[in-house]
Amino acid sequence: MSSTSSTSMPSLPHLIGGASHEDAGTAQRINIDPATGETVSVTPLDAVDAADRAVAAAASAFESWSQTPVGDRIQHLFRYKTILEDHAEELAAILVREHGKTMGESVGSVRRGIDCIEHACAAPVLMMGRTLPQIAVSSSFCRTEDEGGVGIDSSVDRLPLGVCVGITPFNFPIMVPMWMWPMAVACGNTFVLKPSEKDPISAVRTTELAHEAGFPEGVLNLVHGGPAVVDRLIAHDDVAAVSFVGSTRAGASIYAKGAAHGKRVQCMCGAKNFSIIMPDANRGAAVDGIFGSAFGNTGQRCLAGSVVVCVGDSADWFVPALAERTRGIKIGAGDQAGTSMGPMQDLESRDRVLEYIGIGESEGATVLIDGRTAKVPSVGCFVGPTIFDHVTPDMRVGTEEIFGPVLSVMRAGSLEEAVGFVNRSEYGNMSVIFTDSGHAVRKFERTVQAGMLGVNVGVPAPMAAFPFCGWKKSFYGDLHVNGEDGARFFTKSRVTVRRWL
Ligand code: NAD
Repeated sequence: MSSTSSTSMPSLPHLIGGASHEDAGTAQRINIDPATGETVSVTPLDAVDAADRAVAAAASAFESWSQTPVGDRIQHLFRYKTILEDHAEELAAILVREHGKTMGESVGSVRRGIDCIEHACAAPVLMMGRTLPQIAVSSSFCRTEDEGGVGIDSSVDRLPLGVCVGITPFNFPIMVPMWMWPMAVACGNTFVLKPSEKDPISAVRTTELAHEAGFPEGVLNLVHGGPAVVDRLIAHDDVAAVSFVGSTRAGASIYAKGAAHGKRVQCMCGAKNFSIIMPDANRGAAVDGIFGSAFGNTGQRCLAGSVVVCVGDSADWFVPALAERTRGIKIGAGDQAGTSMGPMQDLESRDRVLEYIGIGESEGATVLIDGRTAKVPSVGCFVGPTIFDHVTPDMRVGTEEIFGPVLSVMRAGSLEEAVGFVNRSEYGNMSVIFTDSGHAVRKFERTVQAGMLGVNVGVPAPMAAFPFCGWKKSFYGDLHVNGEDGARFFTKSRVTVRRWL
């Protein structure tokens, strides 16, 4: 769990140029199974030479990979999709073991990763250019006898960038890398993945499976590490673009550093997501939607609905029904039958949640359900779900990302006041409304400041054909991951003007 603990387990290898590469560096992180406390992996943190080797392998593979026809490139992705489907159970079990997700959550997140591969298989269409014939006629010195002049045509092509780097968080260690590298390599780039140091086995296994799918050596490489390795990668002369997913603190810094080194950068960052419950909402759908959104993945989701704003008298029915549902949560290891909520991913995360429960209490919020007193297994990183009621917009539990199973309930007199609470947030990842009123939905859609909206949907996660669209401090950059944006981020345009004399 921490770099100071000791273990006899060897550190994980990097995967460079299609082969395993041992380089433990001088510092490592020991990771535990969050349900049992057993050591599951050791991550090298500062093997910067391995980072250099990974970039060199990717740079050398770029020349021939970028010249490989796109239709041939995506054949590897078709094969990879089938291989992942065949290994879905094995991958889900890895997620349960090193992340702590329930089996259902794990299987679901492998499936969402495969969706991204299917989307990347559309690269022949997504990276297609455009042509405009006869943009002009040159008539002065090259006019032919029987024509009024020589026609000029123009086109724009989309071309790969070169070596792209992906830096990914711990919370979806299979799905989030799939937001990046399948589209990047489908577009003709080569890739270096730097997965989270907290649960790296998932990325190792999915990268090994990519090699089984036949990607040529060097097209996809994996290097482990922490900030020292990230800094090395984003400053590297041979790296063209950096895609980051993680906290706003790290993302803001990586965006600034990447831009200073002239890289193309996109950073999908942290969140504090607000859901609005109107008095006319379908009660079952609202309770169900918020329950799943707040406590699914033990609250460790950038789309977790962590604040609910009850408008008018909706709190009277919503809060008791949600509390009753929450008291029924069965906390346990993700692979145990009947478990509905797994542990936090590591002890630091659990302690952060415990600290925030104390903060909310001292700020004067009502602790309706207290995660500190829940019945949880005696080992591991467990904490129970927490609901704070009567949270006000100035409280830290109503504004800061807790990234755990903690829900803050606010109360507002009107939709306008509720939207005002949402828009005070420095984040703008997603926002949700539960109502039967088209008028309220329209007002919500036109005034709320967030990049992903849900209407009577608890977790409005976009399918891979749509961009993942955070705003404000939830995103730094221009082009998002997935959707058409994904192909645009991983390609550059080139215009040609043609005249045949
Ligand atoms: P994190 O920022 O701690 O780590 C993310 C990655 O950045 C890791 O690979 C890590 O090694 C690296 N990193 C961390 N600090 C760094 C630094 N100072 N310099 C360089 N690299 C650094 O995030 P996490 O705890 O792994 O993940 C949780 C966060 O990710 C939450 O804030 C969550 O909201 C966010 N997240 C956002 C999205 C999104 O699409 N917006 C999706 C998933 C997770």
